Amino acid sequence: MKENTCAACDCELDDTRIAVKIGGRTVEVCCEECATVLREAEATTRAAASMSAHPGH
Ligand SMILES: [Zn+2]
Repeated sequence: MKENTCAACDCELDDTRIAVKIGGRTVEVCCEECATVLREAEATTRAAASMSAHPGH
């Protein structure tokens, strides 16, 4: 598994890469657009998880 590719669109990262924190881990994306995509996807996942599961402690 390559680590130097965008976490959102799978294209290769260059010097303009952006680090995004998603759910406690940091991933790298190629542009601000991909960063937004990941953040929104994570927010959606978290909202869905909190609806289907009741967090204990
Ligand atoms: Zn990308």
